[in-house]
Amino acid sequence: MKKIQMVDLKGQYEGIKNEVNSSLTEVLESSAFINGPYVHSFQKELEDYLEVKHVIPCANGTDALQICMMGLGLQPGDEVITADFTFAATVEVIALLNLTPVLVDVEPDTFNIDPEAIEKAITPKTKAIVPVHLFGQCANMDAIMALAEKHNLFVIEDNAQAIGASYSFADGTKKKAGTMGHVASTSFFPSKNLGCYGDGGAIFTNDDDLAHTIRGMVNHGMYRRYYHDVVGVNSRLDSIQAAVLKAKLPKLDDYNKKRREAAQKYNKAFQGQPNIVIPKMVRNCEGICDDCDCHVFHQYTLRILNEKRDNLVQHLNDNGVPCGVYYPVPLHLQKAYANNRYDEADFPVTNQLIKEVVSLPMHTELDDEQIAFITNLVIDFVNNQ
Ligand SMILES: *Cc1c(COP(=O)(O)O)cnc(C)c1O
Repeated sequence: MKKIQMVDLKGQYEGIKNEVNSSLTEVLESSAFINGPYVHSFQKELEDYLEVKHVIPCANGTDALQICMMGLGLQPGDEVITADFTFAATVEVIALLNLTPVLVDVEPDTFNIDPEAIEKAITPKTKAIVPVHLFGQCANMDAIMALAEKHNLFVIEDNAQAIGASYSFADGTKKKAGTMGHVASTSFFPSKNLGCYGDGGAIFTNDDDLAHTIRGMVNHGMYRRYYHDVVGVNSRLDSIQAAVLKAKLPKLDDYNKKRREAAQKYNKAFQGQPNIVIPKMVRNCEGICDDCDCHVFHQYTLRILNEKRDNLVQHLNDNGVPCGVYYPVPLHLQKAYANNRYDEADFPVTNQLIKEVVSLPMHTELDDEQIAFITNLVIDFVNNQ
């Protein structure tokens, strides 16, 4: 059996090696390292793929989130509601801009922000909601967009984990993750579903004015060379990363399909196991329908109900199976973000999930033998040890 990896970037590279190598050589020979032709053409191709008017590339997903908030003109003291159960980048940039982060609980079955908890947290100071499409599946955007409209709030989608996923609204319309709110951010960190070979990120919006504002902000607030109209930042996608992304973008749907196929195989093996909860797919298709893109499985995350999660992690590692606990600490209990405005009784789900979740190896190169080895190991351990 091939050695099992959490993410197999080497195996994926083998499949695109010729194309990537020749475009990288082209970049090196052109010496157009910043704002070269690859950055521009990748941007256009991503706009077409997402069916969104504007993609603004930038240096990483954390910058992308920060620039979204700057672009919307959020001011110190404005409250921004986001999920307690996510990667810290989301809350970090809120705090860095002297906005007030307001963390709320998530749903136990999808791990995504709970719209009822959002509504409870809205105050006259609330200006924006940041739903994170966690682990590859969109948050409940029907409810979130309705709340935003009712309370006149901006919606900033953190789409670092769900690029290529779609969301089906109750009225039947279907949209790509990152094109439903006022603005969205994504990350091209190597292990993301569309990853480059270093750092990279992008902002998406259908709003022409906001796109114009943001395009200047990523480049020192310049709209005309050496005239600085607003305070900006330096956040660029470089040509080398854009060349890698341009080679990978046409394969993104296929990569995501491979992830879904691996998830279906995991699901089949774990179905009916009393102490294992498989990830819920919002459309209840359980990954069985062929063309379903409601979940792109950035992570395949189980809940282990019989308090054996920590021992299971150890057991998997002892047997050469890498795994991850995303995330082990709720953000409202992190030293940097603890605040006496929070009441433990408001976070029953996150407080439980951090003890139960485990993410199994998930990437485009998993084979049946590896999946059988992993699932047998998990099932044996959870039932017998
Ligand atoms: C990865 C990630 C980010 C940050 O992206 P970087 O490119 O690493 O800065 C933000 N939010 C979420 C949910 C992520 O998973």
